[in-house]
Amino acid sequence: MTGKEIAKENDSILEQIKKAANFLEKEKPFIKEVVRFYEKVFSLQHEFDSDITKDYSVLKSKKDFPLISKKDFDIDFYNAEILFEKICDLCQGSEIQADVTAKIIKESIIDKELSFKSIVQSYLEGNISLPEAILGNSEFNPQVFDFILYNSLKPSIVKSSKIISSYFKEMDQTEQGRCPVCGSAPALSLFSKENGSRSLVCNFCWHEWETKRIVCPFCNNNDSKTLGYVALDNEKGIRADYCDKCKKYIKTIDLREYREDIYLPLELIASIPFDMKMNEEGFKSE
Ligand SMILES: [Zn+2]
Ligand SMILES: [Zn+2]
Repeated sequence: MTGKEIAKENDSILEQIKKAANFLEKEKPFIKEVVRFYEKVFSLQHEFDSDITKDYSVLKSKKDFPLISKKDFDIDFYNAEILFEKICDLCQGSEIQADVTAKIIKESIIDKELSFKSIVQSYLEGNISLPEAILGNSEFNPQVFDFILYNSLKPSIVKSSKIISSYFKEMDQTEQGRCPVCGSAPALSLFSKENGSRSLVCNFCWHEWETKRIVCPFCNNNDSKTLGYVALDNEKGIRADYCDKCKKYIKTIDLREYREDIYLPLELIASIPFDMKMNEEGFKSE
């Protein structure tokens, strides 16, 4: 794609995010602040898009599962660092109880000019090392930190995943409950608009892969007696699929019934009522 085409694609995604947020704000006023906050985060991700330079073509001949590990994703550190600061600023001004942690991050990492690159590398290797000023602070919330850091890397991760997944159109991915690109668990399940076939969406790289209609992606259980779903009265085209064996659930959007203007990461957040209901019933998401 040329620079112009990429800019055009980003414009239309920004428009899509805005439409989805406008709809959700009207439909679910009780989560209005949350929707507007995430709208800003997701819009920033498309404004500060990533430039991926790594040549992944060596993966074309590979049949490994998963194809790469998290630490092998190419990160555009320049744009990721801008995003990191911008999302941090957003959290500081937000009402979503992330402001204290964002302030600690700003003072202990950004203002101190700590190496963003080494923080990211340790994060992707799964053994993040943070300064004592952060770890020793009881008000620091690691989940907020994870949210800010992951969302600053997401454009690089998603773009890399798109390149990598274009290599394995031929591969049979249907048996996996884990992402064939990076091995992470699914965040969402979808029924396609065309024929209702089921696919899963990765919670890390957002790759989408096909799966069987009746199976629990977390434990592979395919016994329909122990699988079920919960629908909610005012939630159209979306449900929570649960498994009685492993006590986990995943939200499923049926694109044949769901509204037109959607942005999946935002729908995932806005479907909080399902998470509340399923947690109440003793089910967990992954
Ligand atoms: Zn993935
Ligand atoms: Zn299960």
